[in-house]
Amino acid sequence: MKIKFLGAHNSESSTVRLASILIDNVLALDAGSLTRSLSFTAQQKLEAVLLTHQHYDHIRDIPVMAMNLFLHETAINIYATTEVCAMLADHLLNHELYRNFLEWPQGNPTIVFNLMEPLKTIQIGDYKVTPVPVSHSVPAVGFQITSGDKTLFYTGDTGPGLAKCWQMISPKLLIIETTAPNRYEDFGRKSSHLTPSLLKEELLSFRQIKGYLPQIYLVHMNPRQEKEIAAEIAAVSSDLGHPITLAHEGLQINL
Ligand SMILES: [Zn+2]
Ligand SMILES: [Zn+2]
Repeated sequence: MKIKFLGAHNSESSTVRLASILIDNVLALDAGSLTRSLSFTAQQKLEAVLLTHQHYDHIRDIPVMAMNLFLHETAINIYATTEVCAMLADHLLNHELYRNFLEWPQGNPTIVFNLMEPLKTIQIGDYKVTPVPVSHSVPAVGFQITSGDKTLFYTGDTGPGLAKCWQMISPKLLIIETTAPNRYEDFGRKSSHLTPSLLKEELLSFRQIKGYLPQIYLVHMNPRQEKEIAAEIAAVSSDLGHPITLAHEGLQINL
């Protein structure tokens, strides 16, 4: 599996982008920075966009990508839970802010919703995909994605309390959020995000439950606090005796 980090942060400027990960050029995980990261040709190659939850930084590029694909006379499959699809239909794709690409053009809509049920594995092309609930301020899932003997898990946004999730998955690669530094632990607990110290607790729980630690890449960092996060993550990595890498825009890894 070829994994490319298109957006690895929780805010955006000319140098950092919102959450989006590309798998083998055909699957996109979250849609925070798809259109600004992918050429028209690359957008047309997408077989599916998987959305972890409804927050704007994870869905933003859906309407513009739909317009792009309509203008190239093609369509896109979006996979998400009922809650996320309903939010998109009610608030974003409602014929008020922009075209309703779910019904337009008539008879051949540009966006096709595919409803996912938590813990129900589905096949998308060559991939087995299982949405697994994580702990966030709105209903949210992470995705376990398997192709051949390669498996990764992307948490999307999550706070502490992942023990149940860990029991359901066995990834070789874990892509997990770490939004803010340790001094924001209260904020992390209240808003369901991770800090390096909260991440450490979750990784200790993972190792206790699964007996190993996977490769670990971090996303969703606050760019303003990234140096502080990186220093604290270096300490966590040293404590655990296991490498942890902060992802960045354009980073590509092979699994
Ligand atoms: Zn969120
Ligand atoms: Zn987010």
